[in-house]
Amino acid sequence: MGPQAVGANRDTKVVADMYLNEATKDKIDFFKRTLLKWARANLRDFPWRRTSDPYRVLITEKLLQQTDFGHVRKVWGEFFQRFPTIEELAKVAEDEIATVLKPLGLWRQRAKQLKKLAEEILAKHGGIIPCDYASLVELPGVGDYIARATLIFACNKPTYILDVNTRKIVSRFFYYPKQGVKDKAIIAILELLTPKDPEECKLFSWGMIDFSALICSRRPRCSICPLKERCSYYLHTSTS
Ligand code: SF4
Repeated sequence: MGPQAVGANRDTKVVADMYLNEATKDKIDFFKRTLLKWARANLRDFPWRRTSDPYRVLITEKLLQQTDFGHVRKVWGEFFQRFPTIEELAKVAEDEIATVLKPLGLWRQRAKQLKKLAEEILAKHGGIIPCDYASLVELPGVGDYIARATLIFACNKPTYILDVNTRKIVSRFFYYPKQGVKDKAIIAILELLTPKDPEECKLFSWGMIDFSALICSRRPRCSICPLKERCSYYLHTSTS
């Protein structure tokens, strides 16, 4: 049996139909195809994108929480050299973790959280990062975003990611000029956009992050955007 998209459900189409006023299947296919093509050519290179080790993936997502990618890049190599396994991280003194995390800010708080997370995984899961959504979100400091990112990047389980990037891009492309689009409506689109193939899902998820940073940024660079011909935001703003 092939991999199942986590979070997809049989009501997706019903929910989507409630919200998809302009977004036709054609528009969804166009978005998915174009974004994947863009990602293949433009994805940024980060060391954590070259591993699928669950320990590294999960801890990296914690490090990236509300932190600039550039700052995390500075400590990433040293962190995993000093604490190569979940066991090492669980047994080491908090101060030692904090010292490595200093360039990220809030290092004491982060060190405390990471140690607690490692201890919990050791105690409850024998040191193995669980690969199911329910167990992941029960871990301390792991919310919906980190759980889904872990499923995609470490467990080969395709799912959508709802965050500031995907909210912004989907709102602009599918819903503009509607303001304050509800998460339910964004998720309905994301479930249809998310590739079912695990590798394509990774590419798509990284692509959304990078596309948000490089093209559909706070001030969107619509003139060079490969999605513009079907984008609601562009079609509304370029003719007004
Ligand atoms: S056309 Fe502009 S608003 Fe639309 S997806 Fe591209 S960059 Fe974002």
